[in-house]
Amino acid sequence: MRRNVFIGMKQNGRGLELTLGNFLRSAVSRNPEQKIYYQDKEIFTYAQFYRRVVNLANALVKLGLKKGDRVAVIDWDTNRYVECYYAIPIAGGAIHTVNIRYSPELIYYTISHAEDSFIVIRDEFVPLIEKNKELFSFIKGWIIYSESGKIGSSLEPKYNYDDLVKDEPSAKEKGKDVDIYDSAETSLPSTSEDDIATIFYTSGTTGLPKGVTFTHRNLVLHAVSLMSTLNEPPMSISSKDVVMPIVPLFHVHQWGFPHWVLSKGLPYVLPGRYNYALILKLIEKLHVTVTAMVPTILQLILMEPGSEGILRNSHLRIIIGGSALTEGLTKRAEALGLTVVGAYGMSETAPALTVSYISKEIEHLSPEEIKREITSAGFPVVLTQVKIVDSEMNDLPRDGKSIGEVVARAPWLTSGYWKMAEETEKLWRGGWLHTGDLGTMDRYGFLRIVDREKDVVKSGGEFVPTIILEDIISAVPGIMEVAVVGKPDQKWDEVPVAFYTSKEELKEDYLNREMDKFVETGRIAKFWKPVSFIRVDSFERTSTGKIDKKPLKERVRGGS
Ligand code: ADP
Repeated sequence: MRRNVFIGMKQNGRGLELTLGNFLRSAVSRNPEQKIYYQDKEIFTYAQFYRRVVNLANALVKLGLKKGDRVAVIDWDTNRYVECYYAIPIAGGAIHTVNIRYSPELIYYTISHAEDSFIVIRDEFVPLIEKNKELFSFIKGWIIYSESGKIGSSLEPKYNYDDLVKDEPSAKEKGKDVDIYDSAETSLPSTSEDDIATIFYTSGTTGLPKGVTFTHRNLVLHAVSLMSTLNEPPMSISSKDVVMPIVPLFHVHQWGFPHWVLSKGLPYVLPGRYNYALILKLIEKLHVTVTAMVPTILQLILMEPGSEGILRNSHLRIIIGGSALTEGLTKRAEALGLTVVGAYGMSETAPALTVSYISKEIEHLSPEEIKREITSAGFPVVLTQVKIVDSEMNDLPRDGKSIGEVVARAPWLTSGYWKMAEETEKLWRGGWLHTGDLGTMDRYGFLRIVDREKDVVKSGGEFVPTIILEDIISAVPGIMEVAVVGKPDQKWDEVPVAFYTSKEELKEDYLNREMDKFVETGRIAKFWKPVSFIRVDSFERTSTGKIDKKPLKERVRGGS
């Protein structure tokens, strides 16, 4: 018998509160039989998932979680992580998604800075904490998850995650048709849409990572906006889709997937720790049709043996964000029949600001022109305001040429950095969120990021937009990935140097000739031409998998 576990929802004077509890109840009640997959090992219906979430929320409250407490989660991309995405805010707390790609020191720093009260942790990460457990005397409890079911650890007090979520109806519910949420209401605190629901830390590529927080309301509106934006072609998300993002759950809400996928009622696949052979197997076995990732990950998947055969039949549509989608990568993906679209945002913006889609404005353009727009950083998503401004905050024309800072407003941007008032003021100067990115906007409203303020190369007083240059170089046959940085130069201040990866060494002569062709056709200015090309076996990556330009800059500055 299918139990009707969903009845009322929490109201406020304005109507329904935009809380994650209400959001989830609505999602699950509309599609209780839809599935959530952890790899191909475990399958849960939305209704089972919901029960586990409510059980976990209740357990956290019983363990002593207080309204406003932060609860850290340390795990790969699993169904349990997504359960925490809902359970912790429903219990009145804020989920702190810990960046497991940080160095141990930064992991310790962020947990201390957030002053987490509980930590949900996968067993394989326990030794990382045990090594320095004296740093964590403020933690009230360790909730450990192990695929083996056993949770041996010296961390105390400890609890077994799977015991806390046990899918058993409470005494009150037994034999009755009752909303498990309501039956648990006596112990769950009431939450408001303005309560903080999440906290996580920026990458820390410059200085220490900064904590950003988001409220229930921020996340619900972000999800609703993405859902409506992604209905548009070419993503055209429909009930036939199966979704498996390859974006870590620890980073910027996995770009909103844990929220919008459930609301849309789609099968949701969590791949665990990234293993590209397994990811390809899941794509094939579970018929995944929609995914998202940074360009580097797509690059790595395309290099995986056997990927071609699987991807060629998949008709996969891929949202690419986090870095620019280059011409070279687009070509490689399209050769396999994949659809790639560009998107843009950052930690501070939850993250969605722009996503590429075929808006009414561009429908009349030629297929080539449409492709160019679809692989840009995108078009402002529903409810956002995004513009390009000069240093005095004057709007710049939408001509696809004028370069200025990207500033934004939306109902889900972080209100500020955790315990960093001065940085917050800087972020929000003039009432707009300052992204620190330089971009252009064309007449149709499509954004292109040309550089980050901190990566800019200035040559002879002129600006070399490194992201645009990288995009163009990426299309040179033989080049896989490329990163351009500025090398100090007595005459010009700085000159561009290109680092690249390729299967085989490419002759400098050949690369120079290719660059000359771009100069002749006017695609690049003469002074953009890199003074040298340096082949590397691989790039160092930031904690989110992007090419880290810092060591490259150090290398050209040190002259080695
Ligand atoms: P970080 O890159 O510092 O690790 P974030 O994940 O917050 O941290 O990354 C946000 C930044 O990534 C943006 O400020 C921008 O510089 C870059 N970015 C994101 N999307 C794009 C895109 N489509 N094109 C170019 N750059 C992008």
